[in-house]
Amino acid sequence: MIEVNHLVKRYGSNHAVDDLSFRVERGQIYGFLGPNGAGKSTTMNILTGYIAPSSGEVKINGHDILEDAEAARKCIGYLPEIPPIYPEMTVLEYLTFAAELKRLPGKSREALILEAMELTGVVEVQRRLIKNLSKGFRQRVGLAQAILGFPEIIILDEPMVGLDPKQIIEVRELIKKLSEKHTVILSSHILSEISAICDHIMIISHGKLVASDTPERLTSLMKGSASLELTVRCEKHGLHQLLKDTSGITSFEILDSPEQGAHDVLIKTEGTTDLREKLFYELASRKMALLRMQQSHVSLEDVFLELTENEETEGEENEDGSDL
Ligand code: ADP
Ligand code: MG
Repeated sequence: MIEVNHLVKRYGSNHAVDDLSFRVERGQIYGFLGPNGAGKSTTMNILTGYIAPSSGEVKINGHDILEDAEAARKCIGYLPEIPPIYPEMTVLEYLTFAAELKRLPGKSREALILEAMELTGVVEVQRRLIKNLSKGFRQRVGLAQAILGFPEIIILDEPMVGLDPKQIIEVRELIKKLSEKHTVILSSHILSEISAICDHIMIISHGKLVASDTPERLTSLMKGSASLELTVRCEKHGLHQLLKDTSGITSFEILDSPEQGAHDVLIKTEGTTDLREKLFYELASRKMALLRMQQSHVSLEDVFLELTENEETEGEENEDGSDL
């Protein structure tokens, strides 16, 4: 459905998107997750034909986004990070204008606009000026514009930004509903938003795809590593042998401990294996004194932090969107 190959976008010497390749299949919710400046918006702007890549290829339903731009863009509804909303228009005027831009057939235009308004819950404010709407309603109008004409793919850049918790839940429900018939790609720098609704998470850092999997698999992937830390007072050779003979341990490392006559042990276990009790009794039966044991629970949050660590943090200022 969407095929991205070796996508690169350079701004001067800065690689906003750095050799990105991925595929998006029909009927799922995909999440682009990454800190500010990771390259999410740039990628979305390229996918939707708003900006051209420096190199690489994007195909939407087989249509090349550069060579066959109109056909490719027809398959996509897009809510950019800064929605192109006209404050002096009423909601209905704006959506009618958007329908013209999308060249929706005149006959069904009204019905399609109404359907989009119903789905996003803006019917009752359709005659109000956009500038007089709350942030939540403006976001919904942006969403209505994105889903107008019901394109197969809906791309939403940070759709939850600036919404209050109740509005976030509403938008989440709306996205879930949309995903029954559409492929949805949304971006966020907030993990909980992405993991709450996405079937598939793509973690982007420094313009690169650093992980791409289901939320469950990303979690268990990381759970498999770095799970237990011990401090044991005993003789090293025996400890080494014991750990070697314990099943469920993927790898371990024995380090000198600041504690007199003791060793610190770092154990990585398989999947969600919990070895705490087993190790406790094994050590005790060999008269090895367990001084400390700590299990680290690895959450998706940790995955995210680990995968994107050293990411530059950007200031509050908005980037110059002049070439959008
Ligand atoms: P995200 O959406 O993940 O926060 P962006 O795609 O907006 O990230 O930005 C990725 C990188 O590209 C950042 O370092 C940003 O400063 C840079 N960038 C984005 N747009 C422009 C532009 N128009 N000119 C110069 N640099 C840009
Ligand atoms: Mg962005």
